Amino acid sequence: MDPRVKQFMTVIKAKDPGESEFHQAVQEVAESLIPFIEENPKYRHAKILERIAEPERVIIFRVPWLDDKNEIQINRGFRIEMNSAIGPYKGGLRFHPTVNLAILKFLAFEQTFKNSLTTLPMGGAKGGSDFDPKGKSDNEVMKFCQSFMTELFRHIGPDTDIPAGDIGVGGREIGFLFGQYKRLRNEFTGVLTGKGIEYGGSLMRPEATGYGATYFAQEMLATRKETMKGKTVCISGSGNVAQYAAEKISELGGKVITMSDSNGFVYDPHGINGERLEYLKNLKNVQRGRIKEYADKYGVEYFEDQRPWIIKCDIAMPNATQNEINGDEARTLVRNGCICVTEGANMPSTLEAVEVFLNAGILYGPGKAANAGGVATSGLEMSQNSMRLPWTRKEVDDRLLLIMKEIHATCVKYGKKPDGFINYVDGANIGGFVKIANAMLAQGIV
Ligand code: NDP
Repeated sequence: MDPRVKQFMTVIKAKDPGESEFHQAVQEVAESLIPFIEENPKYRHAKILERIAEPERVIIFRVPWLDDKNEIQINRGFRIEMNSAIGPYKGGLRFHPTVNLAILKFLAFEQTFKNSLTTLPMGGAKGGSDFDPKGKSDNEVMKFCQSFMTELFRHIGPDTDIPAGDIGVGGREIGFLFGQYKRLRNEFTGVLTGKGIEYGGSLMRPEATGYGATYFAQEMLATRKETMKGKTVCISGSGNVAQYAAEKISELGGKVITMSDSNGFVYDPHGINGERLEYLKNLKNVQRGRIKEYADKYGVEYFEDQRPWIIKCDIAMPNATQNEINGDEARTLVRNGCICVTEGANMPSTLEAVEVFLNAGILYGPGKAANAGGVATSGLEMSQNSMRLPWTRKEVDDRLLLIMKEIHATCVKYGKKPDGFINYVDGANIGGFVKIANAMLAQGIV
């Protein structure tokens, strides 16, 4: 490791020992940025990187609620308001039992750079709770969401902080959260994104992250005169991002052969598309069932407690969670001929896995660039809410495609090496940093 990065990380780790996911996210960015900052000393003198790594505000709160048996349950709620240099705080809420401060800080840190890359005026944030919506009734989810918002509402607002969904927070949860915010404030505003279409949501928001990550893959492939047509794709996850990535990949002529949930993955050589994908969407979004049921229905292989990266593919798309591709799995992918990895999830590859992809010289699109289409479309939802004027599906999709192309171009601008190799990690980190850093310089020591 570069000794300057090591020194920087020693301070970060000493301040918050035990926050390993946060350290990992900061280290990846520091490796790109420290050499860049050395060449641009104005950023060093103003300690921009040190300031970006410190959240502007961290809110932690109690979320008590009554379950269906009338028993009191107590969860913990969080909101990390990371950086507001270029716009109001913006980032999703995650409801999952693994949620803790380290995970939300890493997500808020990543979000700050991602939001800058979208070209839209949005600062970075993330929040959530260790609440697990799985296995809960709609009534319990509603009660939890109402209690969560009863504290969160005082910290957010359409010009202050605009949360959205993430793992475990979909249309149902956003609806309950929005209803409670409106009741407490007596205001109908665009305080959350990912809303239902009937009450201020944007067309294409559910599709945006998966479609956007596919558009980004398409741009990367084009740099090598390749297309999605005829490529086999291994996807992990079967939630919001995974479902719409599968839909767009099939539309572009690729074949999705795996999808997963936290219990295992299915391998379907026929391709998860058309009627099969519709079955999967219904299974996950309506029945709230397990992916194994897909394997049972179509008579395909199911791998319990395993991840899909052992299956040979041209393109890998991790769409589930952080650190779901380790160094060994990355080596297996490369050995099996994978030419492109595009991350729908946030930080799904460990630092070692990233190194494997970069050393192999394959196309590697890190999450903060590849999955930025979701938050970008949230930004478009905010614009429509402010104008009180909805755009058509085509209008939003055209803007999404344009934004993904611009993000790709930014990555090329800052990440292209003298030998022509595009290091998308450097490109995304430096490209995201410059705008925030210049805004912070202009705004003084705040
Ligand atoms: P969902 O809750 O809709 O789906 C998550 C999927 O990942 C499910 O299939 C889930 O399986 C699986 N999963 C979750 N945690 C784990 C785990 N620890 N191990 C294995 N599988 C797991 O979430 P999203 O699709 O919205 O989010 C997926 C990823 O994309 C996350 O990293 C998120 O941060 C990122 N992302 C999402 C955006 C969005 O717009 N939604 C925007 C940008 C990034 P199970 O059902 O069994 O839990």
